[in-house]
Amino acid sequence: MSRAALAPFPTELRVGVPDWLREAQAAAPEYLGTRAERFALVNALAERNVEEGTGGPFAAAVVDEDTGAVVALGVNLVLHANVSSMHAEVVTLGLAQARTGAWNLGRDVGHRRVLVVNAQPCVMCLGALLWSGVSALEFAADGATVERITGFDEGPVPGDWREQLVARGIDVHQEHDTGAEAALERYRDLVESGVTARYNGSGA
Ligand SMILES: [Zn+2]
Repeated sequence: MSRAALAPFPTELRVGVPDWLREAQAAAPEYLGTRAERFALVNALAERNVEEGTGGPFAAAVVDEDTGAVVALGVNLVLHANVSSMHAEVVTLGLAQARTGAWNLGRDVGHRRVLVVNAQPCVMCLGALLWSGVSALEFAADGATVERITGFDEGPVPGDWREQLVARGIDVHQEHDTGAEAALERYRDLVESGVTARYNGSGA
């Protein structure tokens, strides 16, 4: 049996933000006070992520519920980072935690912060948001729509996932008719035409 040579053990795990996202972050409004504004931005970032080839058709924001201040903006960076867990929610929660200097975003330390995503969280991201301290989740496309359009597997998400979040003090709101399907359809079209590589596993 041959043994392939591996690179030395890495001593850190770093995920950088691609240049286009850095520019989009700088250009984004400081405040997103309405759901319409929040979904317009995450939908646009999700579509841009597909066009740039940096990840799947997913984007997220962490917003202060009281003031509308944007704490973090992120996208799915699985392809950019070559890390399978870099879904939009994980990336954006991590960026928010880096910016605030605290792993706990909130509800039990005096902040109400909402995680806004263009699609329902997959089974992994459901856990990530549970442990982040956010006080609410707002999403647009549901998991079945994501799977139908993109072919992604969203994992074994419990049927009572909304109730499970609410039971832990996290409000859940689905916003309909935001145009969230456009990024998903664009991704599907690019995969089918061979422009973008599909990665395995979950997407949102
Ligand atoms: Zn996910």
